[in-house]
Amino acid sequence: MKVRDVGEFGLIDLIKDNSVFSSGQVIAGIGDDTAVLDVSGEGFLLATTDMMIENVHFIIDSNNGEKVGYRAMAANVSDIASMGGIPTHAVISIGVHPDMDVSYIEELYYGLKKCGKQYGANIVGGDTVSSPDNLVVNVALLGEVEKDKYLLRSGARPGDLIIVTGSLGDSTAGLDLILDPDCDVPANTRDYLLERHYYPSPRVKEINSAVQAGNITAADDISDGLGNELHEIVSASKVGAEIWFDSLPVSNELKQVAEKKDKDVVDYALFGGEDFEVVFTAPPEEAEFVTSEVEKRTGTKATIVGEILEASQGVFILRGSERFKLESKGYSHFS
Ligand code: ADP
Ligand code: MG
Repeated sequence: MKVRDVGEFGLIDLIKDNSVFSSGQVIAGIGDDTAVLDVSGEGFLLATTDMMIENVHFIIDSNNGEKVGYRAMAANVSDIASMGGIPTHAVISIGVHPDMDVSYIEELYYGLKKCGKQYGANIVGGDTVSSPDNLVVNVALLGEVEKDKYLLRSGARPGDLIIVTGSLGDSTAGLDLILDPDCDVPANTRDYLLERHYYPSPRVKEINSAVQAGNITAADDISDGLGNELHEIVSASKVGAEIWFDSLPVSNELKQVAEKKDKDVVDYALFGGEDFEVVFTAPPEEAEFVTSEVEKRTGTKATIVGEILEASQGVFILRGSERFKLESKGYSHFS
C-alpha cells in the first residue's frame, strides 16, 4: 500500500497508536491542534509544529523570503491560539540547498522573527541541514494556557452556536490573484487580499477575549477551510452541525475575485486554505455576548455562522431554503 492510498489523515491514524508510553503529563496528545502537557508551573505547556516545503507550501522568488518566514511562524501561532493559549518559544529547523542565496535565508528569518515578535514567541534554537533539492522550514512552537482554560476540539455540544473570527476565504482569493496577475480587480482589492495571504493574523487576542467572556466549548484554527475544521470539531465532539450560508463572513474584495474567476463564494469561504482564523463554539445564551466582547476588545469581527446538532443529524449547510450535505474537502496532503 502506498502513502497516497491512505492519505494524510489515514497515515497519521496508522502511526498514532502507542506513541504515549508515559501518560502522566499528557493532557492531550495526537489529535488536537497542539499537545497539552502538565509539566510543572502554573499553566499547561502547549507544543505544536508545522513544516513548510518549497513547491508544496510556497514558491521561491527572489523577494519573498520574509513573507514565507512570516507565514511559517503564523501557522504555528494559529495552532496555539486555537487552544486558547499564548505563544512563548520556538525552535526552527531548515533544510537548505548549498546553492541557495544566503540573503534569502536572512530574509526568511527576518519574517520568522517579525511574526514571532508580534505574537510573543522567541526563537531559541533549531537545526540546519543540507537539502538535496527544495527548501524546508519547520517551526516547532511552545505556548502556555491557564489550566482550566484550554480548548480542545472535542467539547462542542448540541445547541452550541458556531462562531468564526474575521472573514473567510481571503487568503485563497489572494493566492488566485498571485496565480492570475491579469485578473481585473481594483488595486486596493488586490492589495487587501495579497496582504491577507502573505501576512495572516493568527487570532491569539481574539480567542483569549472569547475565553474571558464566556464558556467556549471547542475550538480549531482554520488552516484547511471552515468546512474541514468543522468536520474535525464534529468528529472529535461526536455531534452534527449546520452552517448558515447567509451568515458566512466574506469580504467584498473576495466577492469581486469570485465574480471575476467565476467561482462560488462558498468554495472560498468553506474550502479555502490558510486563513488562520479561528472557529469556536459557545452555549447559545452566551454566543452573542462573546462575539460582541471579541469585537470590543480586539476590533476583529466575530460572527455566529451556525449551530451544533446531534450527531444523527449530520453536517450540512443551509443555503436559501435548501440543505446541502457539507463534505470535508479541505486540503489533504498526498491526495
Ligand atoms: P494542524 O492542521 O492543526 O496543524 P494536523 O492536521 O497537521 O494539525 O495534524 C493532526 C494531528 O496529528 C495533530 O494532533 C498533530 O500533532 C498530529 N500529527 C500530525 N503528523 C504527525 C506525525 N508525523 N507524528 C505524530 N503526530 C502527528
Ligand atoms: Mg490546527
